[in-house]
Amino acid sequence: MTRIFKFGGASIRDADAIRHLGDLIAGEAPKPQAIVVSAMGNTTNALEALLGSARGDDPADYRQRLAAIRDDHLAVAEAMFGPGSSVADELAQRLAELDAAHRAHRQAPYPFHYDQTVGMGELLSTALVAAWLNEIGVATRWCDARTLIITDDRHQAANIDWAATQERIASLTQAGDEVLLTQGFIGATAGGAMTTLGREGSDFSAAILAEALDADELTFWKDVPGLYNADPRRFANARQMAQLSYEEALEQTWHGAKVIHPRTLAPLQRRGIPLTVRSFLEPDAPPSIIGPEPGEGDRQPAFMLRDDQVLLDISIRDGSFVDEALMAEVLTRFAEAGLHANLLDVEALRLRLVVDHRPERLAPVLEALDERFSVARQDDLVLLTVRHPVDALLAHLDADRTRLVERCNATTAQRLYLAAECPDTWQIPD
Ligand code: ADP
Ligand code: ASP
Ligand code: MG
Repeated sequence: MTRIFKFGGASIRDADAIRHLGDLIAGEAPKPQAIVVSAMGNTTNALEALLGSARGDDPADYRQRLAAIRDDHLAVAEAMFGPGSSVADELAQRLAELDAAHRAHRQAPYPFHYDQTVGMGELLSTALVAAWLNEIGVATRWCDARTLIITDDRHQAANIDWAATQERIASLTQAGDEVLLTQGFIGATAGGAMTTLGREGSDFSAAILAEALDADELTFWKDVPGLYNADPRRFANARQMAQLSYEEALEQTWHGAKVIHPRTLAPLQRRGIPLTVRSFLEPDAPPSIIGPEPGEGDRQPAFMLRDDQVLLDISIRDGSFVDEALMAEVLTRFAEAGLHANLLDVEALRLRLVVDHRPERLAPVLEALDERFSVARQDDLVLLTVRHPVDALLAHLDADRTRLVERCNATTAQRLYLAAECPDTWQIPD
């Protein structure tokens, strides 16, 4: 039976967490054929900040940030392998490469520079995890995802070259019961330039590997035992769902359930590979399973929140109708800026769009639209999406709250509320 495991940043945040991961893998039978690992803890955020400072004018800030990333990783290496280990040398070597990349790419386009910097987190973490697994007797081969996941050059959100990727992964050889260990989130162009698949993209990497290896199951080890009907950090009475279909999981993640990257589901669905979500904190807790069969998650209400939303009310200055050509013109601008319409509402003379508050992306779009369109905007909003809504439940949620926009079809309801009228911790009505 071919099993693939994926571990996110929280599961390898420090030396104890990596030791725990080692025990967990050593105790699993059968062993996974491959393991996909994210960057340690908050390293990806730290690398994004490092990039900002590398492109700015404050060399002292840059040095300090680089030193902090180095210290974090070297401290883990020392705690696990003692002083002066070969792993520490390898980490130091990678960090020197990172520093050199900053000097080389300072003037390069931001998305390219981003990938050369931010993709480094997974190269660092996997050096530590692979060495630890070998140390405890789990024979592990470190593989460079840049030789396996082949993409186009759309930096920061690369598209997979499925045929080339399949070919590379199929040509991997494995000795005995050796475990392959590789990085999530990163790939490379055919020419070898590092690319990334978008934030939270390690889930997607694992699904790509599972598809290419025709795995029997993929397991995500998270800090929650499974998929809930709402983010348990935001909804006090969220409940775990034992089972749901790929289609339902895709809808929920696409609408903002941030537990799984939405691009993960398609490769699994193509081969009918079940995805099990388990807790690395409570490995014996009952998991959630996403697969071809519908389950309770396909029927009961589920809630997705998007914070920090911006409503844009767009009309054409000459008073024309919002026809298809006009919609295409406006939406193309948003697509090109990488801004997703989390809600779309069309009337005769206006188009309303709800997007994430990303000023660096939004400002150029608004500037380009300004010549022909008038745009009214409202900030500080929350978008709530409810799958399988029932009227009484929606009425309860809407009570005492201003609905700026609403949309409803047979399976999904969306509400745009003022953030000031929303609680920090929500309660799902009975
Ligand atoms: P990883 O680092 O392994 O990719 P994530 O942090 O991306 O893990 O995902 C786990 C987190 O997702 C949980 O801590 C939880 O707060 C959040 N989350 C959001 N929506 C859901 C949901 N519907 N079910 C479970 N967890 C959710
Ligand atoms: N390390 C990357 C991120 O934090 C990818 C991932 O963890 O999925 O976005
Ligand atoms: Mg994640």
